[in-house]
Amino acid sequence: MDLDAALGLIAEIPDFPEPGVLFRDLSPLFASADGFKAVTDALAATVEPDVELLAAVEARGFMLAAAVGYARGLGVVLVRKPGKLPSVAGRVEYALEYGTASLELPAGVVAPGSRVAVVDDVLATGGTVDAACRLLEEAGASVSGISVVLELAGLDGRAVLAGRKVSALQAA
Ligand code: 5GP
Repeated sequence: MDLDAALGLIAEIPDFPEPGVLFRDLSPLFASADGFKAVTDALAATVEPDVELLAAVEARGFMLAAAVGYARGLGVVLVRKPGKLPSVAGRVEYALEYGTASLELPAGVVAPGSRVAVVDDVLATGGTVDAACRLLEEAGASVSGISVVLELAGLDGRAVLAGRKVSALQAA
């Protein structure tokens, strides 16, 4: 399956999680063997050759980063929502439209000075990926790039991530 056909499997769900929001649902893409392979291969090609570790954003980033890591021979560090990790290297809080959210990094996994690429499914306002980047940098890593399947260009996440290399397989 070519990449366009694979990306065409992403469903658009109106009014989720709240009225007025058009949610992009990657479930049909993940469930398609050929689609998942096409997207994994394309994402793997966006990761710089000198990257030493992938950082996966909970939760859909986990499965994408795992597949990309396998394809590229890289390991994965899980960037998690609070309360999941027994031992935490750091935590960052970031703003949502209403309220705040946090992400945590496991202790003892990211070596200072290591080159890391961040993987997630969708880039919307950029707050989540920006928080993941800051968390990694606070741990002493350098962020080589950000790879996502889909960028919601109207929300201008790239402005939040100015100065960072962002690779999106599709902009909507
Ligand atoms: P941001 O912080 O960039 O506003 O939102 C990105 C995060 O929210 C990502 O971790 C992503 O999984 C999730 N997200 C936001 N909008 C969508 C969407 O339309 N579809 C999916 N699958 N995830 C979304």
